[in-house]
Amino acid sequence: MLADKDRIFTNVYGFQPWNLDAARARGDWDNTKDILAKGQDAIIDEIKASGLRGRGGAGFPTGMKWSFMPKESKDGRPSFLVINADESEPGSCKDREIIRHDPHKLIEGALVAGFAMRARAAYIYIRGEYIREAETLFTAVQEAYDAGLIGKNACGSGYDFDVFVHRGAGAYICGEETAMIESLEGKKGQPRLKPPFPAGAGLYGCPTTVNNVESIAVAPTIMRRGSAWFSSFGRENNKGTKLFQISGHVEKPCVVEEEMGIPFKDLIEKHCGGIRGGWDNLLAVIPGGSSVPLVPAAEIMDAPMDFDGLKAVGSGLGTAAVIVMDKSTDIVKAISRISYFYKHESCGQCTPCREGTGWMWRMMERLRVGDAQPEEIDMLFQVTKQVEGHTICALGDAAAWPIQGLIKHFRPELERRIADAGNMAEAAE
Ligand code: NAD
Ligand code: SF4
Repeated sequence: MLADKDRIFTNVYGFQPWNLDAARARGDWDNTKDILAKGQDAIIDEIKASGLRGRGGAGFPTGMKWSFMPKESKDGRPSFLVINADESEPGSCKDREIIRHDPHKLIEGALVAGFAMRARAAYIYIRGEYIREAETLFTAVQEAYDAGLIGKNACGSGYDFDVFVHRGAGAYICGEETAMIESLEGKKGQPRLKPPFPAGAGLYGCPTTVNNVESIAVAPTIMRRGSAWFSSFGRENNKGTKLFQISGHVEKPCVVEEEMGIPFKDLIEKHCGGIRGGWDNLLAVIPGGSSVPLVPAAEIMDAPMDFDGLKAVGSGLGTAAVIVMDKSTDIVKAISRISYFYKHESCGQCTPCREGTGWMWRMMERLRVGDAQPEEIDMLFQVTKQVEGHTICALGDAAAWPIQGLIKHFRPELERRIADAGNMAEAAE
């Protein structure tokens, strides 16, 4: 179990105030000027050496992403940092806790990361539904300006850096980085084709890096404690500590910082008091937010909770939103509900996603009540394959994968429903 002294988010439960004085007492904004004095390249090298991979779900190496930003401005164009606080993945709620209880970690991280990538400003795009969190963030940003920590000559470093908070309006797709950039520009939030990646052409056509809240908020601590400290946790290619969000049928759902790679069973035993009704009652787990396939009980038990460990059992770490389902769960209904979510949130600009998400949801609803022919299970699988990898953004994949996981692991349950419905119809004739 991660020792308290090794936790980055020491106020994740809000036992102390979030304000600047309390944040300073916890060590935030402590000689930030010295971190900046190391220079841009040294900061990027340190983050690279720490092994930090993006905490928004995709796990792209953070230091490498920063290094894609230009060292010299072309045609006088500024560079920007965009911080993705549009946390909308079903099951995910870690960024909310950071903003609620530790907003200064994020604002200090914005300065450190923004400076390293030579950005003129950071835009924090916060989910529209996070009303109180946005209020906290606005106030914390103002505190940082008033104390001279950001703005002109930030922290006395000679570097000018602004932080703007922008509220979203409730669309899941605006969490996709290029849709977020479109939305910031005042347009309809629809993903752009990549490449070009944002570092080449991002906000207002300028070099931009989009990072998740947690990825940015851990940066100052990594700079203070060193990359060797951070990379001493976890396994090769899966380094550091991470906020896990455990919901569903556990005794005590929670958000907790743990070492990457902690086995699933240990995570649940140590922090959640076990599975409701005991371990024999566990049915399946969605280990990384709704975009990743479910894993049946027997296969998840010893799985290391990191990128490679969960890939090995056919799923993914995603945002580390661990959704636990016991045997009382109607698993077909649960996945059908997720299908409805993606159908509802599809922005509609590419045909396989616009048509496919609706088709898959309607099919899932028929399978839920057994109103289908057995061969339609394979047909549904084929449709998921037509959607997967054939769309502009990852929403299409995210809609396909949960259904693929259901068919792979719970096919007998789907067949049983079809057979039961057929028997009932015969009996009624
Ligand atoms: P992605 O793999 O396309 O990109 C990840 C990041 O790496 C992006 O910033 C991208 O610009 C960068 N990148 C990738 N290849 C690059 C290259 N060759 N050159 C330069 N930069 C490159 O994934 P994505 O679409 O950004 O994210 C998908 C993930 O988001 C899913 O796995 C899901 O878990 C997660 N997600 C999270 C939430 C949330 O609420 N946090 C919501 C929805 C989805
Ligand atoms: Fe929009 Fe779906 Fe295409 Fe993404 S995959 S751009 S959400 S239609």
